Amino acid sequence: MSKTFDIGIETLAGKPQAAPQASSEEAGARDVSTIPPNGKSFYIETFGCQMNAHDSEKVAGVLLERGYRAVDSLMHADLVLYNTCSIREKAAQKVFSRLGEMRYAAPRKVIGVLGCLAQQEGEEIFERAPWVSLVCGSASYRRLPELMAQVEEGGRRVSGLDLDTEETFETEFTRRDNPIRAYITIIEGCDYACSYCVVPHTRGPERSRASDAVLGEARRLADHGYSEIQLLGQTVNSYRDPSPRGLDFVGLLREVAAVEGIRRVRFTTSHPNDFHRAIVEAIDEIPALCDHVHLPVQSGSTPILRAMRRTYTRDEYLEKISWIHAARRAFSITSDVIVGFPGETEQDFEETLTLLDAVGYDGVFSFKYSPRPNTAATAMPDAVLEEEKSRRLAILMERQRQIQIARNEKLVGATFEVLVDGRHESRDQWSGRTSGNRLVNFTSPRQSLLGEYVQVRITRASANSIAGEQVI
Ligand code: SF4
Repeated sequence: MSKTFDIGIETLAGKPQAAPQASSEEAGARDVSTIPPNGKSFYIETFGCQMNAHDSEKVAGVLLERGYRAVDSLMHADLVLYNTCSIREKAAQKVFSRLGEMRYAAPRKVIGVLGCLAQQEGEEIFERAPWVSLVCGSASYRRLPELMAQVEEGGRRVSGLDLDTEETFETEFTRRDNPIRAYITIIEGCDYACSYCVVPHTRGPERSRASDAVLGEARRLADHGYSEIQLLGQTVNSYRDPSPRGLDFVGLLREVAAVEGIRRVRFTTSHPNDFHRAIVEAIDEIPALCDHVHLPVQSGSTPILRAMRRTYTRDEYLEKISWIHAARRAFSITSDVIVGFPGETEQDFEETLTLLDAVGYDGVFSFKYSPRPNTAATAMPDAVLEEEKSRRLAILMERQRQIQIARNEKLVGATFEVLVDGRHESRDQWSGRTSGNRLVNFTSPRQSLLGEYVQVRITRASANSIAGEQVI
């Protein structure tokens, strides 16, 4: 998998690389330092995408508000929560293996399962792992205080598994684990029905947050020193303000970018169907909007896109890419691709390869198709053999690697503004991200740069990063 970018949401992606390990807490409407401790501690392990990681930050906020104390090892925790992912089978198996390891830890510890696997497997989890006390899907997080109260009173088999909701998960307090980049969920769930995807089943229908709540959170983050915000949603650009202001996605982007103190605004993940020219125009016009678009294509073949129920054709996708290519700013473009979808022929796969060339992606998260429960694709004929999927994946990754090398080499000699988010002592290097989300490693005579914006002149390039030196 190409790893220049850390932002796959629709499909599984890794956690941010090289972020400092520090933790910061954002005071919301309530000051948690005044809450009396309840004598209990918690530990959350998070699997999957950035949406999950941010959900865990909000769940941690709920627990801190209840007087729990965060610990950094499950050994020392009274309450252990697994915030799970079910987008691929491997991720689901990992959670069950973790639960197996906790078999003899209960009843000394209370064990809970949150997130997509909780929603997918439901109360079956209590049958497979009777030592689990809490099962809660993400569409029920708003009920967490009530569910936690039941658990604290000794409740067993406490569950929150509603999907039929119009509400979003609002917390008065969110624990922020990344001191450089803050996340704000603006839309939850998904109303699309891609034939391979469990998300509509695990996260429920699309619900947007009111723009005032989003802007209030952005202002609080700016007050606490954050200058970079990433707006999150499974289909972030489907945002529709439910309040009387009725902002669309571009309207919200413009207002978040105008918040005093906010210098960079990112967003992910965009659905191509809701990707309009106005988004490109806004990024072109407003420097605070980062010049990076993550636009998952999934396949370069129109028949496969149709089978995936992606609601656009290859040509329609490429038309949207042409708007980006024509922009004044030089955008980075990244994507997600699935190989080996049922019925994918050699010709279909070839079309995906030629699409990589036509777009010139700066990063691609690529995956072998794996069937998931409750999805239409599981019943589709003409499954591609596992070895063939592996062969196609290897070819695709190598093609994309060459594209990234060629694109990154063109950046040698250029100077970029970098927000510094990491330090590699052994290499005596700093690292950070450009507005286009490129990973930059660089040297500097300065001793303390974390969280600062610096100018870096690029001297070397590789497939997954560029390197240079700070311009003093
Ligand atoms: S748009 Fe498709 S792939 Fe993305 S979350 Fe919705 S159903 Fe899943």
